[in-house]
Amino acid sequence: MDAATREFVHTRSRHRCEYCLLLQSSAPFLTFHVEHIIASQHLQDDGIDNLALACPDCNRHKGPNLSSVDPLTLQIVTLFHPRRERWTDHFSVVNANIAGLTPIGRATAKLLRFNDPERLAIREALQQMDEWPPHRH
Ligand SMILES: [Zn+2]
Repeated sequence: MDAATREFVHTRSRHRCEYCLLLQSSAPFLTFHVEHIIASQHLQDDGIDNLALACPDCNRHKGPNLSSVDPLTLQIVTLFHPRRERWTDHFSVVNANIAGLTPIGRATAKLLRFNDPERLAIREALQQMDEWPPHRH
């Protein structure tokens, strides 16, 4: 992946994780990654429609997974796809918590561990500084 592609993905995402919405500028101690939405082991696709910006926590927990299990219905569902789906259709912000609204949202929130205690602590701190929830356009 070339530098221009990387730059494009960072700018398109407005420098925030496309899964948990954490802003890179809110977490300068973390290095965000350009990740493959469908991992390369499943599909060799470096096109911009298969790339997303992800914080290291989301990136690590997602790994090469394409699907997971909705903890409520136990349905196997594909993970949230930031290019094809709209974040607000699948998730909602409740204070520091990110709640899944749909089977896709719940499965993704659980697999990517959006609400692990240390991540809640970061969002609570950001909330104090009025940097969470992120401002939408
Ligand atoms: Zn994230």
